Amino acid sequence: MAFEGLTSRLQGVFSKLRGKGKVSEEDVNAAMREVRLALLEADVNFKVVKDFIAKVKEKSVGSEVMDSFTPGMVIIDIVNKELTELMGGSQAKLARNNRPPTVVLMAGLQGAGKTTTSAKLAKLLLKGNHRPLLVAGDIYRPAAIKQLQVLGEQINVPVFTLPEGNSPVEIARQALQHAKDHGNDYLLIDTAGRLHVDEELMEELRQIHEVTKPDEVLLVVDAMTGQDAVNVAESFNQQLELTGVILTKLDGDTRGGAALSVKAVTGCPIKFAALGEKIDALEPFHPERMASRILG
Ligand code: GDP
Repeated sequence: MAFEGLTSRLQGVFSKLRGKGKVSEEDVNAAMREVRLALLEADVNFKVVKDFIAKVKEKSVGSEVMDSFTPGMVIIDIVNKELTELMGGSQAKLARNNRPPTVVLMAGLQGAGKTTTSAKLAKLLLKGNHRPLLVAGDIYRPAAIKQLQVLGEQINVPVFTLPEGNSPVEIARQALQHAKDHGNDYLLIDTAGRLHVDEELMEELRQIHEVTKPDEVLLVVDAMTGQDAVNVAESFNQQLELTGVILTKLDGDTRGGAALSVKAVTGCPIKFAALGEKIDALEPFHPERMASRILG
């Protein structure tokens, strides 16, 4: 499971603090040195770690904490709150356009989980009594179109496709009209991925953006890739103005760096987390729950 290493490291640090009736500034410094190492080992961005430790220290060494009955517990609570803040503070909800359909553009590198996640998101929306329409926009990978059709059938959500020869921009344009005509209140556009961020891919996404004016541009990133995921998010964000990130494969043994850095580095909130291959393994991302989970 994700974060195992980080959780056990932090538990080790905190068990030392928890029992203490008195905590000295040196105790706090020693604990923070260990937290710092634990976060770096979990592949959290270097600068993010530095800022995080500075904030926790600043809040921990005041007399209010030091003179409290359970200073160790108070410090753990401060760490919990700062971790929550780091991941965005409160839950960032999916946009909803007052004039449907709400258009959601799904972007990401190949293999990140874009197609699967699009279907998972459709399933979540369906559960919330919405009428999503999935759009197969990854025309370069015929298998991706088929994959989306199979998933759509499985969850009973229509999948919009056009015959070969149509560009992704044309597909998106017609899909938007189709959604308006058929009362679909969410349009989820699966787009092509590449192995790396490249100009051609960005240009195509920009064009789809231009014709569909999405309410959400969600970047799907593989949490297992750690800081690479954060770098990918940063470069997509520079070119496309993301509205959110979806972290996938949090069920794997990711060290957690991506989850803990992506918001701080890019400013984009994590909106959903995928925790498995199954179609219902997607959930809204709750920073406070994730922080508690990390602290164990
Ligand atoms: P795309 O190229 O970005 O569209 O990626 P796909 O949706 O085809 O997913 C690539 C692989 O990752 C597939 O084998 C998925 O089943 C798998 N996958 C996607 N999300 C998750 C997840 O949250 N957990 C796990 N374990 N596997 C996932």
